[in-house]
Amino acid sequence: MSSSLVRILSKASRHPCVPWAALRSRSTASLPDVPSQQPPAVSFAPLQTFSEEEGMMREAVQKYARDCIAPYVSKMDEESAMDPAVIKSLFDQGLMGIEIDPEYGGTGSTFFSSILVIEELAKVDASVAVLCDIQNTLINTLLSNLGTPQQKEQYLSRLSTDTVGSFCLSEAEAGSDAFALKTRAEKHKDYYVINGSKMWISNAEHAGVFLVMANVDPAAGYRGITCFMVDRDTEGMAIGKKENKLGLRASSTCPLNFDNVKVPEKNILGQVGHGYKYAIGMLNEGRIGIAAQMLGVAQGCFDHTIPYTQQRIQFGQRIFDFQGLQHQISHVATQIEAARLLTYNAARLKEAGRPFIKEACMAKYFTSEVATLTTSKCIEWMGGVGFTKDYPIEKYYRDCKIGTIYEGTTNIQLSTMAKYIDKEYDH
Ligand SMILES: Cc1cc2nc3c(=O)[nH]c(=O)nc-3n(C[C@H](O)[C@H](O)[C@H](O)COP(=O)(O)OP(=O)(O)OC[C@H]3O[C@@H](n4cnc5c(N)ncnc54)[C@H](O)[C@@H]3O)c2cc1C
Repeated sequence: MSSSLVRILSKASRHPCVPWAALRSRSTASLPDVPSQQPPAVSFAPLQTFSEEEGMMREAVQKYARDCIAPYVSKMDEESAMDPAVIKSLFDQGLMGIEIDPEYGGTGSTFFSSILVIEELAKVDASVAVLCDIQNTLINTLLSNLGTPQQKEQYLSRLSTDTVGSFCLSEAEAGSDAFALKTRAEKHKDYYVINGSKMWISNAEHAGVFLVMANVDPAAGYRGITCFMVDRDTEGMAIGKKENKLGLRASSTCPLNFDNVKVPEKNILGQVGHGYKYAIGMLNEGRIGIAAQMLGVAQGCFDHTIPYTQQRIQFGQRIFDFQGLQHQISHVATQIEAARLLTYNAARLKEAGRPFIKEACMAKYFTSEVATLTTSKCIEWMGGVGFTKDYPIEKYYRDCKIGTIYEGTTNIQLSTMAKYIDKEYDH
């Protein structure tokens, strides 16, 4: 189905640039006496059309998240810790290697399926969603695209079955300006020695392998940045105390320190000096994953709240029946729908091999805004109980804030979009 969708999209783009009236008369001229109510010969699938496999995956993950993750969510948030049973079940379900080739123990599915999975998980818990998101959209993709056969054999089979991966780019002085990173990798015979430190590394508490961006040639600037695969037990690598965060509390976020960490040359992923390209490329795709996470947060929060507004009676009627509430609810529902369409469109563009960077930025930017609006409104619609921990609404409100920060802040998304808009109008 996904390949037929690609065919439909590429056909649509082949229309020559002729005036609309000419196109219309050409198409009507070629039609015999067809009754006007006849459906058109070519139809275009609505964005929310799923292949059979995607639909099945979506349903299965919905049920899995409800039955196997939901019972852990509140405790994990309270204790700021991901339960190892949850991580194990993600692997058992095949959700940590969605696109990995079955040859390496993966599920062999598609990017779009990953997006649906992330959305479904985030409806229940944003922390679990980001664990699955980083593994699938950053770590596995980098290894699948760039790994040598030996690297794939060694790492992909672990990543799909029992090993969490972390993506290590940010540093204390290199956030939005990521390529100002100072972590160095110095070449010795057939190995490199890494020194420096990283910050904000998601999933570091449980990760078994770290993709570390370090500069092998500071004189070359960002063109010295290289991607190294570093195993957790490598001597000299220390994982620091996890951050005490506003939201996404079950997801560990830790600093890392590298003190003369010796990494064999064979652990370089891709080419020396190309790390910056890989990081940009992966984050472009990854942003669609974060959009899916924010979409899930918004939808999950909305799904919890609406039934409450239908049951809560004030002034002798359901609060849902007040027009003042209905208009707000309909407005938010429209925003969520628009966020979903932006996200799915960016994902389908990416999957079809078409330009998608501007659309991915739009999706991440917009879904983060929509998640912020939705969760804030939901607390208001629930009144006092929405402000308590007796309901999950306040957690969605805390969890959504990260959408405007990681994998490129909102300002960075807007700046990237502006670059594309500028080019589009540059004649
Ligand atoms: C929970 C969490 C998990 C994370 N996980 C990871 C991870 O797994 N791996 C990883 O490598 N990193 C990770 N990060 C880091 C994250 O990507 C950075 O925090 C993010 O890129 C922003 O960098 P910064 O925090 O240094 O903010 P800064 O770059 O200091 O930005 C501060 C403010 O300045 C604005 N600003 C900066 N530059 C510009 C500009 N040019 N134009 C306009 N405004 C600008 C920003 O938009 C922002 O509002 C994580 C962060 C958090 C909080």
